[in-house]
Amino acid sequence: MGAVDLRGLLAASGDEHERWSRTINPQFVRVLRTIGFDRTWARAEGAYLFDVDGNRYLDMLGGFGMYNVGRNNPRIRTALIEALELETPGSVQLGVTALPGLLAEALLARAPARLERVLFTSSGTEAVEAALKLGRAATKRTRVLSAEHGFHGLTLGSLSANGNDEFTSRFGPLLPGFDRVPFGDLDALEQQLRSEDVALFLVEPIQGKGVHLPPAGYLEGAQALCRKSGTLFCVDEVQTGFGRTGRMFAFEHWGLEPDLVPVAKSLSGGYVPVGALLMSRRVHEAVYDSMENALSHGSTFAPNELAMAAGLATLRELDEQDLVGHTARLGDHLLERTRPLVDEFEVVRDVRGLGLMWAIEFGEPASSGRLSWRMIEKMQPGLFAQLVVAPLFSEHHILSQVAGHKLAVLKVLPPLPIGEQDIDDFVGALTATIARAQRMPRSLTRFALTAAGIR
Ligand code: PLP
Repeated sequence: MGAVDLRGLLAASGDEHERWSRTINPQFVRVLRTIGFDRTWARAEGAYLFDVDGNRYLDMLGGFGMYNVGRNNPRIRTALIEALELETPGSVQLGVTALPGLLAEALLARAPARLERVLFTSSGTEAVEAALKLGRAATKRTRVLSAEHGFHGLTLGSLSANGNDEFTSRFGPLLPGFDRVPFGDLDALEQQLRSEDVALFLVEPIQGKGVHLPPAGYLEGAQALCRKSGTLFCVDEVQTGFGRTGRMFAFEHWGLEPDLVPVAKSLSGGYVPVGALLMSRRVHEAVYDSMENALSHGSTFAPNELAMAAGLATLRELDEQDLVGHTARLGDHLLERTRPLVDEFEVVRDVRGLGLMWAIEFGEPASSGRLSWRMIEKMQPGLFAQLVVAPLFSEHHILSQVAGHKLAVLKVLPPLPIGEQDIDDFVGALTATIARAQRMPRSLTRFALTAAGIR
C-alpha cells in the first residue's frame, strides 16, 4: 500500500464549499457566500493567497494572527521536513526529548528574567486554561479578574474570563469566581483586588476585539496593584506576541514583568497547533511541588515535536529577518498614511494601532451620509465596517476583517514580512472603498440588506 495520494485527492475533490457545508458547518458557508468570501483557494505564499483562477489576494488578516513569519515560510517548512526525516522519538510520555527543552530555553531567553518555566499546550485557549488552573493552585485563591471586552479563547475557563456577551450568553453557567473590570480603569481594579482573594488578573496588553490600546500608565499600574495584593499578573500575548506590535512581546512597550504569559498562534509559523504558558519559577514550584504533583497539568499532544521544531525555526526567522524591527517601521508607516483619513472622511472616527496590529473605526458622519449611516446601523450595528471589508475583498483582492461583533471597526493583522508597497496598496484601496461606502450606492444598500440577514 502506498501513501495517500494527496495531490490526486485534491485535484479530484470537487466543490469544497458544498462538502464543507454538508459535513462541517453549513451556516459558516452561508456567511462566506453572503459576504462574497467563498473563493476556492489554491495556494499561499508570504502575505499572499491565490485562488484557483490565479488571482492574487493581499492577506491583511493573517489567519487571525497565526502567520507572523508569512504563509508557507520555506525555512519553517525545511525544519518540519528535517524533523520528520530525523524520525525523532515523538512523545515518549514517560520520558523527555530534546526539542521541547530547546524551544523552552529559546522562549525564556527572549523573555524577562522573572519568567523561568514553560508549559506547552496545543492552542491559545489551553495556555490560558493553564494560567487559570496554575494561578489558582499557586496562590490558593479562587477568584479571577479579567477586563470587559477581553478575549482569551473559547473553552469554558477562558470563556468565563471573556468580556463579551455574544460569546458567553448561550453557554452558561460559566465557572464561578470570575469577575470583570473595565479595561483601563485602575480604580476599579484596585477595588476588586483589595480583598486579597484574587488569584490572577488576566489581561490582553492590547485588546484584540476592537483593537483598544491601554491608556498611559494602565498596565504598569495594574502590575503594581497585583504585586501589592498578592495577585498574579497574567498578560495574554496570544495575539500580540512574536513581533506583532513591533516588539517580541507587546508587554516590552511598557517594561512589564508578568508572572504568567500565555502565547500561541504564530509560535509554530502557522503550520502546527501550538501554545505555551511562560511563568515564574515561584508559580511553577508552588504547583509542581512534589513528585506526586509532577504531572499536575498537561495534555497528550503537548509538547508536540513538530510544533517544537517549527517553533525553533520561527524564533530564528523572527531574528534573522529582523521581522520585529521591520514590523515597528511598517506599523509607523501604516499609521502615518492612515491617520489623515480621520480628517478626510466624516465617517472615519479613529485610526489606531501598534506595529502591525491596526484598526480603523467608523462613526456616524455629522452631515452628508448621516441618514444612510442611521439606516444601516438600524439593520445591524457595526454593519458599515462590513460595507468596507466586502468590497476591499471583491474589488481590490484584499482580505481583512470586522474587529468584533457589532463593531464598526475594520482590523488588520497581516503577515509581518509584508512590504511597504503592500501597505501603500492597502491604504489606496481602503481610501477608495471608504469614499464609495460613504456615498452608499444602491449596490451597497442591497449588500447591506443581505448581510444584515445573516443569522
Ligand atoms: N487569547 C487571545 C488574546 C486571543 O486573541 C486568542 C485567539 O484569538 C486566544 C487567546 C485563543 O487562542 P486559540 O484560538 O489558539 O485557542
